[in-house]
Amino acid sequence: MAQKWILVTGGSRGIGRALVAGLGQNWNVVFTGRNEHTVQDTQVELTDEKSSHWIQGVACDSNDETQVENLAQDLLAKWGAPEAIIHNAGIARDGLHIHQSAALWREVLETNVISMINWNRVLLPAMLMQKRGSIVLMSSVSALKGNVGQTAYAASKAAMSGMARSLALEVARFGVRVNCLAPGLIRTEMLEEIPPQKLKELRQSIPLRRLGETDDVLQTVAFLIGEGSQYMTGQTLVLDGGLSA
Ligand code: NDP
Repeated sequence: MAQKWILVTGGSRGIGRALVAGLGQNWNVVFTGRNEHTVQDTQVELTDEKSSHWIQGVACDSNDETQVENLAQDLLAKWGAPEAIIHNAGIARDGLHIHQSAALWREVLETNVISMINWNRVLLPAMLMQKRGSIVLMSSVSALKGNVGQTAYAASKAAMSGMARSLALEVARFGVRVNCLAPGLIRTEMLEEIPPQKLKELRQSIPLRRLGETDDVLQTVAFLIGEGSQYMTGQTLVLDGGLSA
């Protein structure tokens, strides 16, 4: 039986996990991640037996065309077309450009950009038939503002904005919207590794004088897939406390 559901790729940790927890209050959510244990743990931690919505975590590598195809077909057969896809899975692989290799660039572009076609190829035709839906691409402020050590990451995130604009034009007449979200520094486990002094300096460089919270990202994604943004498509929303202003 068709049920309204959304997909969050890379939902087992960090921002994605917060999206699954928050959006799971109002939507049935399928999320992915490569590490099976982390996916299972997240599913157990976030499942609320009293909730009227379900959360389903599945170990799936977005870069693996066959894995994605099998899972996407399975989900379509079970629940019908998704109401939204949030392409959140991503990697950074920071390092100075002169120390980077083509293999590293391929890995970053494959994970952050090319993997989206694996999902869209199967799920998007069903969304077009359904004549509604929203796709959100999790970009980064690095797409707009240079960052030492992030040439590959920045290139991949900038590619998302270009893709969102063109795809938005292709699918708008079917009622499907495509937007990018470009967060700045968001407080996740990743940032806990930064020394306190360095973190203080980073915070001071942000005009709003605080790091972004995963809840800030959640609220904006909820807006992008919700009623409030129904006339918005092909855009990149920047959520960075003024960093790129
Ligand atoms: P994390 O590294 O904490 O989480 C990334 C998630 O993606 C994990 O669930 C990871 O699980 C999953 N993932 C990675 N590669 C794949 C893959 N090939 N297939 C499926 N799942 C995958 O990152 P963040 O939460 O910090 O970032 C989430 C997104 O937000 C990324 O796209 C990032 O670029 C973007 N972003 C983050 C910012 C920040 O400050 N944190 C700022 C701006 C943008 P597993 O490793 O098990 O596969």
